[in-house]
Order: sequence, then structure tokens, then C-alpha cells
Amino acid sequence: MSDRFKAVLITRDEEKKQSVSFVEMNENELMDGDVTVEVEATTVNYKDGLAITGKAPVVRRFPMIPGVDFAGTVRRSAHRDWKEGDKVILNGWGVGETHYGAYAERARVSGDWLVPLPVGMSARDAMAIGTAGYTAMLCVMALERHGITPDRGAVIVTGAAGGVGSIAVSLLAGLGYEVVASTGRLSEEAYLKELGAHEIIAREELSGPARPLGKERWAGGIDVVGSHTLSNVLSMTCYGGAVAACGLAQGMDLPASVAPFILRGVSLLGVDSVMAPKPLRLEAWSRIARELDRAKLSAVSRVIGLGDVVKAAEEIMAGQVRGRLVVEM
Ligand code: NDP
Repeated sequence: MSDRFKAVLITRDEEKKQSVSFVEMNENELMDGDVTVEVEATTVNYKDGLAITGKAPVVRRFPMIPGVDFAGTVRRSAHRDWKEGDKVILNGWGVGETHYGAYAERARVSGDWLVPLPVGMSARDAMAIGTAGYTAMLCVMALERHGITPDRGAVIVTGAAGGVGSIAVSLLAGLGYEVVASTGRLSEEAYLKELGAHEIIAREELSGPARPLGKERWAGGIDVVGSHTLSNVLSMTCYGGAVAACGLAQGMDLPASVAPFILRGVSLLGVDSVMAPKPLRLEAWSRIARELDRAKLSAVSRVIGLGDVVKAAEEIMAGQVRGRLVVEM
């Protein structure tokens, strides 16, 4: 097999103006790593949208091959855990930010960053789940560790029609939680109900400035939106409840009061997928393999080609992507 491969490359000129192009590269141009992977599928996450459009400083080294997650087959390995032919998944670890990433037919990475593709899961399924689904599962696990079980009451998911949101709704519903889905796209009500949402609420109910405390409405939450939305979610969380926060689609700020924490014992649980330790990753992927209704994945995902990622990045930034985008090589 040839050492040449196609890639998306982000470059920056002297005025720090960013541009994106399709290039052909050679394997010896890849960055250091002890495992070379034939990338079979990747995806377009919100973070990839930020990187490609340059709307936030996700890329911290130029030139850069963007793309923060992939699934594929090991082509060469000098790492004790991996051999040629192994099927692997990579999420995060700075790939697509400081280390050449997923929007290429080849990737060279540290073997420590890889986890095995669960048996029976295709590369395409793994990327329909992607970092979004793996993060959704990390959020579910955080709520469970805090004792938020289905009998405690409803759980709200914000940004429910997006990638993390859609999979969070599906996972929670599958585990028996009553899911309240908050969305700016009420036209997606049927889609969200199909995923298992019990109640749909409009994004506007939560997007304005929050009162210190509101009516207690849910025992837990998974928030991908941040800013006022997270403040409102916290202010309406029941006594002793918890909210897992993983995103910033509305904003990075948190204009909240301490009232939910000190008067209702509410907990705010931070979730990071990028540097999450390997045992947590292995647990998340094995639970996804067992617990996520994969028949529903085809309903939440659309397949595109490597040549479509720039357009898809603009769509995700405009909030026009429903569920998940899978990029097949
Ligand atoms: P998507 O774009 O697929 O989903 C985000 C959703 O948020 C949108 O679909 C929309 O949902 C909602 N939304 C968008 N803009 C606004 C706004 N201005 N106000 C309120 N809601 C808004 O992105 P992902 O699911 O891939 O990622 C979601 C968030 O999670 C991002 O901020 C991302 O950076 C973060 N993330 C963090 C990770 C971590 O490790 N902590 C890992 C993965 C993602 P709807 O149309 O239903 O309202």
C-alpha cells in the first residue's frame, strides 16, 4: 500500500489568517508516534467546527491536520499493546489541536492514546458515536457516581438535538431515566421523542439570565450549552441533585449564583473527554457497546466524505447539524 495519502490541512499566513486546503502527503511527514493507523472513519464535532472555521483557538500549532477523533486499523506499531490489523479508536489527547489529526487517510499517534474498537462495532458506528457519544457516556457515568438514579426524578439534557445531546438522550432513556430535552429546534420534537425524550422544552426557557433559585424540576442534568442555560439548569435542580457540564455552545461564562449549591446541595460535575484517563475511556466505550441502542444510531447520523468536512464545519457552527456526522474515507 502506498505511503501517500490525502489530508485536510489548516495553514496560517504571516498575518495569522487561516486557510484550509486538501493536500496529498507522505507518511514520513506525519508527526512522531509509535502507532500508524489507516483511518477508516472520523466525524465532525463542534470543536472541529471551531478549528476549521477558526472561530476559537482550537488549533495551537500550524500547519495542522484537524479532526479530534477517528476509528481505523493499525498499519504499523512499535507499541506493546498494538499490532498490525488491530481495530482502534482515538478520542482527544490534543489530536487535531497540537498533533496531526483525523482528517487524513493516515494518522500516527502514541499507542497510549488508543482504545480497542469494541467487538462487533464497525469504524462507522464508532464514529457515529464519536467523541460526542463518549462524552455523553462520561456525563451519564458522572451523574451515576453522584447517585442520580432514575428513581430520583427527571434528567434534563440541553442542546438535545446536537451530537452530545442526542446520544445523551438515547443513553439516559435506555437506562430508564425520564428525559427532559431542551432544544432550540422544536421541529425536532418527533426525532427527540424517538430517541426516548419524555418532555421537550424550548431553549428560550433556559437561555436568559437565571434567578438564584427556580422551581425544582429535575434531579440531574447534562449540559452542553454553558452560560445562562447552565445557570438556569442549576437553579431548577432538585435538592441534592447534580449537573454534568461538558460544553459551551451558548458561552464559556457561568453567570450563576451560589444559591443552588449552598441552599439545595446541588453539585456541578465537570466532564472532560480530551485528557480523561484510560480506565475511564475503556469503561465508557464498553458501556456504550453494551447499552447504546445502535439501531437508533442510523437515525442520528449522516455519512459524508472527507471532501465535505469544511462545509459540515460551517453547518455545525450555524447549529444546523442534527445528531452526528460520520466522515468515511
Ligand atoms: P453540536 O453542535 O452537535 O450540538 C450543540 C447543540 O447545542 C446544538 O445542536 C444546539 O442544540 C445547541 N446550541 C447551539 N448553539 C446554542 C446557543 N447559542 N444557545 C443554546 N443552545 C445552543 O455540538 P456537540 O454535540 O459536538 O458538542 C456540544 C458541546 O459540547 C460543544 O460546546 C462542545 O465543545 C462540547 N464538548 C465538550 C467535550 C468535553 O470533553 N468536555 C467533548 C465533546 C463536546 P439544539 O438545536 O437542540 O438547541
